[in-house]
Amino acid sequence: MSSRRKTRKAPGKQHETPRRRGEAEDRPAELPPAALLRAALREETRSHLDGASRADTLLLIQQTRGNAYVQRLMQPATAAIQREGGRGASRAVPGLPAEAVEQIETHLSNDPQAALDRLTAALSGRGGIDLSFLAGETMTYVADKSGMAPGHYGHTSITPGDGRPRPCIVVVGPDAFQSVSDLYTTVMHEWKHVLQFRKPDAATEAMDELEASLWEVENIDQTGLGRDLDYLKRISGVLDNWWNLLTPEETAAMKQRYVSARAIITRKRFELDEKAKGNK
Ligand SMILES: [Zn+2]
Repeated sequence: MSSRRKTRKAPGKQHETPRRRGEAEDRPAELPPAALLRAALREETRSHLDGASRADTLLLIQQTRGNAYVQRLMQPATAAIQREGGRGASRAVPGLPAEAVEQIETHLSNDPQAALDRLTAALSGRGGIDLSFLAGETMTYVADKSGMAPGHYGHTSITPGDGRPRPCIVVVGPDAFQSVSDLYTTVMHEWKHVLQFRKPDAATEAMDELEASLWEVENIDQTGLGRDLDYLKRISGVLDNWWNLLTPEETAAMKQRYVSARAIITRKRFELDEKAKGNK
């Protein structure tokens, strides 16, 4: 079973229109003072400030808004990012440090491998994953999806050889890079497969996939995907698909977690419905 494929299945997932990134960077004059200051404090965005140096920017804000204002801005910088409307909402990934989320999001579209590396670094730093279990100690972005079945976001396989554990090869395809949340849940889904490959006895594919998908639902408050109706529909279908393929013994073993996961999905969809009604 060493060539067994494990993939994150996502039937019927449609591509959304890519989010427009970098709008604020194109129009520095429209940046609010808080964003302007934070941009000034970040080396990599200095060019977006139209030549203004960090010191000049600080001085400008101090002169126009006062010293106390500047100090207030500098202290809770990450919290302030979260509270800002619009794009801030897409950054709400409670399971990751806000700084990491911001960096990953910056790389999502222009440097997927960097986004993936930043995410795995953030997760390995918190005991979530152990990169030494992976061939080359890395997960690899692949633009070419031809090696993945349609709708699959990632793929985990075990390196050739004898005995276990052996290093695993994890590749992540472009569909996972729609948002930090999508990438996070994909990486952890594949990580579950890495752990499964380390066990001496192989379970059925349905069991392995159900377990990996259960992680996604059970941790939906960490990935932030509970606010994504398309995702809720998708993971609901994935869960049921694998659930229906379990053996009777597996069904008995997994029933409690499955029922709890279904309840989580139902609650999240209810909350979204209520929110939609409230917005009318
Ligand atoms: Zn899978």
